[in-house]
Amino acid sequence: MNEKKNYGFTTTILHSDRQKTIEHGSLHKPIHTSVAFGYKDARQLAEVFQGKQSGYRYGRQGNPTVSALEDKVTGMEGGLSTICFATGMAAIGAVIQGLLREGDHVVSSAFLFGNTNSMWMTVHAQGARVSMVDATDVKLVEEALTPQTRIVFVETIANPRTQIADLKRIGELCRERGILYIVDNTMTSPYLFQPKAVHAGLVVNSLTKSIGGHGNALGGALTDTGLYDWSRYPHIADNYKKNPQAQWGMAQIRAKALRDFGASLGPEAAHHIAVGAETIALRQDRECANALAVAQMLDADPRVAAVYYPGLPSHPQHALATELFRSYGSLLSFELKDGIDCFDYLNRLQLAVASSNLGDTRTLVIPVAHTIFFEMGQERRAAMGIAESLIRVSIGLEDTDDLVEDFRQALDS
Ligand SMILES: *Cc1c(COP(=O)(O)O)cnc(C)c1O
Repeated sequence: MNEKKNYGFTTTILHSDRQKTIEHGSLHKPIHTSVAFGYKDARQLAEVFQGKQSGYRYGRQGNPTVSALEDKVTGMEGGLSTICFATGMAAIGAVIQGLLREGDHVVSSAFLFGNTNSMWMTVHAQGARVSMVDATDVKLVEEALTPQTRIVFVETIANPRTQIADLKRIGELCRERGILYIVDNTMTSPYLFQPKAVHAGLVVNSLTKSIGGHGNALGGALTDTGLYDWSRYPHIADNYKKNPQAQWGMAQIRAKALRDFGASLGPEAAHHIAVGAETIALRQDRECANALAVAQMLDADPRVAAVYYPGLPSHPQHALATELFRSYGSLLSFELKDGIDCFDYLNRLQLAVASSNLGDTRTLVIPVAHTIFFEMGQERRAAMGIAESLIRVSIGLEDTDDLVEDFRQALDS
């Protein structure tokens, strides 16, 4: 296969494994369950451990099935390299374990996946300072920067309220200041958007969501786009500077976070995710079309108080989403008018399933304030723009008419 050719998104995913020899001529990458790896002799084993020869050491640090998925994700993001983790949260946690020290400062979007929000609180309590700002406005990000700011962290489309960070301008700001810009791309996925385009240095994907796409495996990935100059990062240990400069950051994260904390992706999960990834473009085209149809129906109904979906012209960042993203995603949320109980509404849905996941083949709904954002309390919820009646929807692959009718009929009480 010709490596140099510029193939399309799906072609690249389908033929990614063939960039390297696949064992026994298998058309699909096998699942390697061995935890340890043997070598010709003891000297060769030593050389693999010393990095003088490439090879696998122990399953916690790398596995052939997982490596194949890492290469696939790198191809999807147009990046330099990827490390996979057991979950999306483990991928975000690896940034902290691998790169942050006491006294460092992080600027994060205040509009975040709930567990990421909780994780920044923990980091703050442990000695790094975290400022949470409204990242839809680059000015607020800039005002929060200090000489100790090492990282700016944002999501593309924030879950659940769908705010879109000022992605391009924050990228320019971070580039000027030499700050590491990390973008959580889970809600767009590399099919709809590559954060490399806005100069992100690292990209996070929860593989559990759209990339795996079938609700059958947990996983996470951290991709180095190759755009961040690691010589500007103050805490790379000398040991990892033996690698070419472009690899410093990932070498340190693989050792200090993946190896030392051990949130490794298992080979069976990697296999499920790799198979799921092959159809992401087809799935997301359908999901985005379904999401727009449901959002338009809800938006036109007087019993609905508010609809949040970047595909609606009334969305505050509709123009930005149109400029940057291939389409508007499969996440939407809405509030019902006073007098309609959100639990009653959810119970009248016939197809949409009450569940906390995202990016599954089936449509999932959840009352946000009572579940995933319950722990943080009403005050923080209000600060994040989350109404007590907010319903989040992760749109699936159902036939469009069935889905629109399901959300409509449940409004009739
Ligand atoms: C789900 C999610 C995560 C965490 O991923 P897990 O695989 O569930 O750990 C992180 N960020 C965003 C935006 C998510 O939706």
